[in-house]
Amino acid sequence: MPARKPLISGNWKMNLNHFEATSTLDKLRYLLTKDDYEAVDVSVHAPFTDIRTVQTFLESEKVSISIGAQNCHWETNGAFTGEIAPGMLAKLNVAYVIVGHSERREIFGETDIEVARKVTAVFANGMTPILCCGETLAEREGEATHGKVTGQVHAGIDALSAEQVAAMVIAYEPIWAIGTGRTASSEDAQQVCAWIRAKVAEMKGADAAAAVRIQYGGSVKGTNAAELMAQPDIDGALVGGAALDADEFARIVQYRLA
Ligand code: PEP
Repeated sequence: MPARKPLISGNWKMNLNHFEATSTLDKLRYLLTKDDYEAVDVSVHAPFTDIRTVQTFLESEKVSISIGAQNCHWETNGAFTGEIAPGMLAKLNVAYVIVGHSERREIFGETDIEVARKVTAVFANGMTPILCCGETLAEREGEATHGKVTGQVHAGIDALSAEQVAAMVIAYEPIWAIGTGRTASSEDAQQVCAWIRAKVAEMKGADAAAAVRIQYGGSVKGTNAAELMAQPDIDGALVGGAALDADEFARIVQYRLA
């Protein structure tokens, strides 16, 4: 089984219009090197209105950053005002789609069933889902972390083949660590990521578990990335706030140089 290549993903959320997106990518173009792209896969998850611009920039400048989206609908087309179909993203060469981010679940009421439909739809359109899971502070304090994460992962991968699970990405993001400046300790993050991998093994077999990439997300910065990434079951990071600053995001991508 080849080693898992880490994936560092910048989730821009509802930030950076298409002009700002271009200037951020232009900085990253100079900051990141061929060695970085050999060591780490990198994706940026732009707002929908930026994606065409991001695609044009990355392809014309031959920058090895993958194009990402933050969400999509599960249907192919139809009367779903305000939604974006996965096929529309695939047409823009989107490679990775974040599915079931805690902000989608908590603010927009996305359920495990909807998240599972989205995961399936992303695969059906030739893209890779990044399935998010994670517990609230109350759940962590109530020792309900494992139950919450197991339920979300189970729902998200149940309908998938072992090969699909091997090819996907799971992001463990404790909700209390998102945008708060509070990072899970590298031991706690490792412990939950190892738990997720064990659940994947139970459900889809050892090969799928050994291959699936598991990211940690929650206040990742240039100063804590190396320690988190040194954990054996952490295969990358899903980065929110720090991804808006090209210098800081580059420091995270270059964690191995720290
Ligand atoms: C996120 O929203 O996925 C995230 C991890 O945000 P932040 O890095 O700002 O905590």
